Amino acid sequence: MWQAQVRIDLDAIRHNVATLRGLLRPGTALMSVVKADAYGHGLLPVATAAVQAGATWLGAATLDEALTLREHGITVRILSWLHSPGRPLHEAITAGVDLSASSSDALDEIAAAARQAHRPAAVHLKIDTGMSRNGATRADWPALLTAAAKAEADGDIEIAAVWSHFACADEPGHPSILRQQLAFDDALDVAAGLGVEPPLRHLANSAATLTLPESHFDLVRVGLSTYGLEPIPGAAPDLRPAMSVHARVALVKAVPAGEGVSYGHTYKILRDTNLALVPLGYADGVPRSASSRGLVEIGGKVRRVVGRVCMDQIMVDCGDDDVRPGDEAVLFGRGGPTADDWAAAADTINYEIVARMGSNRTPRVYVGEQA
Ligand SMILES: *Cc1c(COP(=O)(O)O)cnc(C)c1O
Repeated sequence: MWQAQVRIDLDAIRHNVATLRGLLRPGTALMSVVKADAYGHGLLPVATAAVQAGATWLGAATLDEALTLREHGITVRILSWLHSPGRPLHEAITAGVDLSASSSDALDEIAAAARQAHRPAAVHLKIDTGMSRNGATRADWPALLTAAAKAEADGDIEIAAVWSHFACADEPGHPSILRQQLAFDDALDVAAGLGVEPPLRHLANSAATLTLPESHFDLVRVGLSTYGLEPIPGAAPDLRPAMSVHARVALVKAVPAGEGVSYGHTYKILRDTNLALVPLGYADGVPRSASSRGLVEIGGKVRRVVGRVCMDQIMVDCGDDDVRPGDEAVLFGRGGPTADDWAAAADTINYEIVARMGSNRTPRVYVGEQA
């Protein structure tokens, strides 16, 4: 008998990838972003399901994520975009993983690794169009292009793409969106002026994929929406959340009015009630900042967490209801509260809720797995 589990519906992943593909023009490919253990959903099962549903690219932040995909026989194109100096890039090149370069130094390191691997590296040149995170600045862009063109002529790399990332695509109408689109067009013009015509251009994350068709270019990089969550409330009603979080009530007891609940007694019982002890806490990814605010469904009713979230457990106010030990509690998913409810309760975003819930000691169970 299980105590707590994170359930991942792979049919939902497949449904979401197919739904997202339906938004794209025929020539535009879809990359499912599976960084951070597939946003807490599990790297390999999600990657497999996404590919089954037609994702022809997978996006990984780290080399390790990308190499794990290859080691398990995933053959679609993979882009890995975040490496500190000194990482074993030649392993990625040997494994046929595309790499991103944001600076001439990074490009030099990729070229050296390619010579070591005896195989050209497929490189995506990243321009910073206004997020100030990765990517070359406008000032450094021509030098990066020149270095890339030379490395390509030397046979060390193949320029696979020019790409960038939005800062505020989840706020439709935000003035930075148009500025970034114009900066991307400008970066492509500068590239063309230097003789660089990348086979692929990509810019859109989930929010842009859902709201800005003109940003789709040749490839979209969808993370959150692959998992059935919306970057903008109401933007994608056809998606199905893939993760649900379940636990079995460990203890129920009557607690009289006036008692304090959990550490610090930040919550006081106002009238006699039954408290259910649910065996999931912040070590499992339940945000402590949702103390006395998170919602949990037990016995078909949505109830509130009372008192501080502990490391391993939370207390849920069940009033006069007949809740029993062993009853199933649903933190989110499957008709209970949503990851968005927990994000609101914890003052964060749905991304963080699922990424944390899925990266801990709670066993993950897959449903909808194809034989
Ligand atoms: C995480 C990430 C994405 C996916 O973003 P979503 O909002 O989850 O769709 C795309 N591109 C880059 C560079 C990222 O880091």
